[in-house]
This record gives sequence, C-alpha cells and structure tokens, in this order.
Amino acid sequence: MKIPVLTYHSMNITRNTYAENDHLALASDLETINELGFRVIPLSRVVDWHQGTLRDEDVARTVAITLDDGSWFDFYDLDHPTCGVQRSMINILRDFNLKKGPTQDSHATSFVISSPHARASLDKRCMIGKDWWGDQWWKDAVSSGVMDVECHSWDHVHTALDKVAQQNQLKGDFRQVKTFIDAEIQFTRAGEYIGSVLGYRPSLFAYPYGSASDYVVDQYLPKYQSRHQFRAAFTTEPKANCVTA
Ligand SMILES: [Zn+2]
Repeated sequence: MKIPVLTYHSMNITRNTYAENDHLALASDLETINELGFRVIPLSRVVDWHQGTLRDEDVARTVAITLDDGSWFDFYDLDHPTCGVQRSMINILRDFNLKKGPTQDSHATSFVISSPHARASLDKRCMIGKDWWGDQWWKDAVSSGVMDVECHSWDHVHTALDKVAQQNQLKGDFRQVKTFIDAEIQFTRAGEYIGSVLGYRPSLFAYPYGSASDYVVDQYLPKYQSRHQFRAAFTTEPKANCVTA
C-alpha cells in the first residue's frame, strides 16, 4: 500500500491558473481528492502508518498535503502585486472543510525554513520585501488543528543567501550537507529554533531541493536522533527516510 504525499509552494503565483498558482491548484485538488473518494490526513499519521503504529485499514484511501518553505502565503490572505488577493493555504483548507462538513477534515503540514535571518534575506531577494516570511503565525497554525509546522532545514542552502551552513558555501543542493558540523546546524539547530517558537520540537523534516547526502541518511539521522529529534525525513522521490522504528 502507498499513501500519496502532495507538495505545494504557496509562493508559486505567476498567474491565476491551475498550473501557475498553487493556491488555485490546492483548492482544485481538494475537490478532486474528494470526488475520487479519498480524504486528507495529517502527514504525521502517514509516518505513524509507515512506522507500524497505524494499520492499513486506518489509512485506506488517504493522501497527505505538505507545503514547502513557510512564507506568509501559507497562513495569511495576501494581496499579490500582480495577481490580486490570494486566499491562504490554511484558509483554503478551512473553506473546504466547512463546505464538506464532517466527511472531510483536511490538514496540511508546512515545512518552514528555520533561520530568521535566512527568511528575512529571502523575503527581500525572492519576494517583494514586505516581511512576509516571519514566524508569527507558526503557533496559531498548529493551534488551529488544520496545519502542522515542521522543519525544512536551517537555511535551505539557498542560492539567494550570501552565506549558508555548508562548509564550502556550496548552495542550491542539500546533498552537499555531508559533515557533522553542517548537519548539526541544518537539522538540530533548525529544530531547536522552531521548538523555541512552538514550545515543542518538530519531528518531521523535508529535504530542501528534495534530496540528501548518504552521510545524512545513513549516519547523521540514525546516529544522532537524540540530538535532532526527527522521526522521518521526506525526499521528492516516492519514499520516506524513517529515522526510528
Ligand atoms: Zn524548499
């Protein structure tokens, strides 16, 4: 059995079409999921099933929804400069749940970039410099019961940043994170910061750019679980790297 995990980027807004606007895509996909007789469950439940604490019948005909990078478009309705006001991802989920009633209890997991400095720089360089990448909403998102906040690394080794936590400043490829020192920042420090905001440590991780080094998968994650505290990490390949049994 397999459970699909669908990933969206709420900053993907170029035009108001399905292909070029992930808000419209999410709203449309929720309808399709419903029409096909599936329901959306939290990603943590998928990991529970993967790790053997939920049975196949508990998660039959389900999908999970994830969001990457953690900009304000996940949580707040914002006026996009060329495409107009965009319903936030969390409000799209709420609208859908309200419309469908008790048959649908849709949920998403937002994988956020941890470092406040990285988010502030990316806000200026990849968005329009309106401070739309803060973490003020993280706690409210979790309290809503509609969205979890989990970890998408310390700085994404993002190409738009001056300095990243990769010892040779190799950017744009998370597979270059392959030493203990770099992994400590990208996983453990990232988890600690998110934990300081939420009041508990995140337990799920999504690799920036979708993949990780053998060092991370075979050594850092299994050996240092007591430090990073993640129980599963997601690639963009159709599989999960589960840390604990
Ligand atoms: Zn990302």
